Amino acid sequence: MMGNKFDIATLVRSSVRDLKPYSSARDEYVSNGADMIFLDANENPYENGVNRYPDPQQRNLKAVLAGQKGLASQNILLGNGSDEVLDLLFRGFCEPGLDNIITLPPTYGMYQVLSGINAIENREVLLTRNFEPDLSGIFQAIDGRTKLLFICSPNNPTGNRFSDEKIESLLLGFNGLVIIDEAYVDFSEHESWLTKLKQFPNLVVTQTLSKAFGMAGIRLGICYASEEIIGILNKIKPPYNVNALTQQKALSRVSDRASVSSEVTRILEERATLLNALGAVDFVKKIYPTDANFVLVKVDNAEKRYQQLLDLNFVVRNRSSQPLCENTLRFTVGTSEENRKLIATLNTMV
Ligand SMILES: *Cc1c(COP(=O)(O)O)cnc(C)c1O
Repeated sequence: MMGNKFDIATLVRSSVRDLKPYSSARDEYVSNGADMIFLDANENPYENGVNRYPDPQQRNLKAVLAGQKGLASQNILLGNGSDEVLDLLFRGFCEPGLDNIITLPPTYGMYQVLSGINAIENREVLLTRNFEPDLSGIFQAIDGRTKLLFICSPNNPTGNRFSDEKIESLLLGFNGLVIIDEAYVDFSEHESWLTKLKQFPNLVVTQTLSKAFGMAGIRLGICYASEEIIGILNKIKPPYNVNALTQQKALSRVSDRASVSSEVTRILEERATLLNALGAVDFVKKIYPTDANFVLVKVDNAEKRYQQLLDLNFVVRNRSSQPLCENTLRFTVGTSEENRKLIATLNTMV
């Protein structure tokens, strides 16, 4: 394997390299603790809790996250959901119409959508039959214009986490950015790739408050990477991309680690119950191993079972249109009452 010749200067999109970012009123002001009168941003001065622009750098929230992860705030970029963070990676590093990215289907649909929006070719290299990255296929697909490689681990919709050795080979062998989407990492027993950030200059880890943290409604996505990579994304992010209400809610939630971890524990207990029950359902043909808060199952006839469940008031996800996922349904783990109802219903379906 070739040594890694990662060079951020050759990776960044040329218009971004030369860009001078918008400087907002609040970017220029640095607090010295004094009580200031703010007449700089044309806000309405009457207090209602949200009459002021939010902190464009979300300093309080980043300080808490940095402390928990053993990183610096300069290693963190926050966005309006992971979707914004992923879009910023395209816009920071890919030249429309020229560059390409690599994704590993079956996987999260947004990588494909974002490649389309940004006019970047998406080179799809299917996972192997046991849902692991196909290393030789990936290295064949890479060329001088490949900028990003998206690895979703634990993977949506398959649920499994990829082997460390395979991911490490990709980090070492590919000179572009390797983005590990860890939306489901809090449901896995294995540790995050965050601990390897210093070891691999081309590693980008994304996480979210939408799943384990129970805050899909506030839209907060997190990107962890080297200071250089974060610096480029910071240049192009909209100045006030994380609103004040989201910053407040997120700060109190991430500070309350005990609540989050007790909910995760309950979800994992419910997952075990659900997996057991699914094993006894006649039309379930295969249950795939999961490191996430959902499980992919192969059934006899996915369209028929999906419709039956809808008629019985359960919404699940039919993933049959995805490669390697013929006749599969994806079930999210619900509360114990929801699961009890689901299991009872599955057992009545003929
Ligand atoms: C749910 C999910 C996300 C979360 O996206 P947000 O925009 O942060 O809600 C990210 N990646 C994957 C793979 C997901 O399944």
